[in-house]
Amino acid sequence: MVAAAIMVLALAAATPALARPLALRGGFWPEPRPRPPRLAIPLPRPRPAEASVKEDHSSDDKPAAEQGAPAPSPPSACRLALTEAIAIAPSIPAISGPGGCGGDDLVRLEAVVLADKRQVAVKPAAILRCTMAAAVADWIRSDMAPFAQNLGTTLSDLENFDSFECRGRNRVSGAKLSEHGRANAIDIRALKFANGQSLSLTDRSAAPEQRETVLHSVCARFTTVLGPGSDWYHEDHIHLDLAERRGGYRICQWNVYDSMPAVAPLLPAARPEEAPPREVAAKPAVAAKPAAARPDAAEPKAEAPVPGPKRRPTKKRRRAGAF
Ligand SMILES: [Zn+2]
Repeated sequence: MVAAAIMVLALAAATPALARPLALRGGFWPEPRPRPPRLAIPLPRPRPAEASVKEDHSSDDKPAAEQGAPAPSPPSACRLALTEAIAIAPSIPAISGPGGCGGDDLVRLEAVVLADKRQVAVKPAAILRCTMAAAVADWIRSDMAPFAQNLGTTLSDLENFDSFECRGRNRVSGAKLSEHGRANAIDIRALKFANGQSLSLTDRSAAPEQRETVLHSVCARFTTVLGPGSDWYHEDHIHLDLAERRGGYRICQWNVYDSMPAVAPLLPAARPEEAPPREVAAKPAVAAKPAAARPDAAEPKAEAPVPGPKRRPTKKRRRAGAF
């Protein structure tokens, strides 16, 4: 009997699959306890992304007010150089916009101060990186002030069409971030003078040689210059920026168009009465003339070019990658 019981136990231990039916039938095997229902164990919330960036826990004990504000960075070399003797350009807080928009070391360029202390107002004031504001100030002081002086006047205003704006190039959404989005560009339309005159940079009726002077000046100073003829986004203003490109590559695309003709379209002058008959392709009337009267009649003669209306320059739609 004992041996039989041992056998049963040994069988049950060797084959667990048999154990339960035996136990159920036999009644001596303990009933398996019903399992408690599975409860959802609350898990700790995932650590926020910004928390993982901060590895330094040394400041955890400090009050919240002390943790929030980072220490102000010392003024940049540009900021130190752009004094009120050069420009009225107060610093403004850094901008951190979507998609990399904004930047730090920003200023609001309100006016450029000339050597004689006169101010050239930037209207409206332009939000620019300090380096771009300094480049604009240097351009006005070194090139445009003497240019105005040569015209017998002084510069009074710089007409700002656009400066910082968080947008893609040419206002195309999804396009690469414009230099305007980095506060590294300004669009200008005109220079205004103290004598009440102004030079509208894209106006065909404005003196072309004056516009060319401005063209040569800006293309020597800025790494991107886009105006009429670059693409059809820049027909009414000049874009200037300081984009840095590989190999120091620069873009200078601004066609200074000649003034519009006074009478348009330009037609050829009327043919005078006494003019000899036009030599045209052989017609019966011409062929009837005696050959002796026209020794060169046997040879085909190139037809004189007939003056036609002046062709306007073809507008090239280059992909300037603008701006
Ligand atoms: Zn622009």
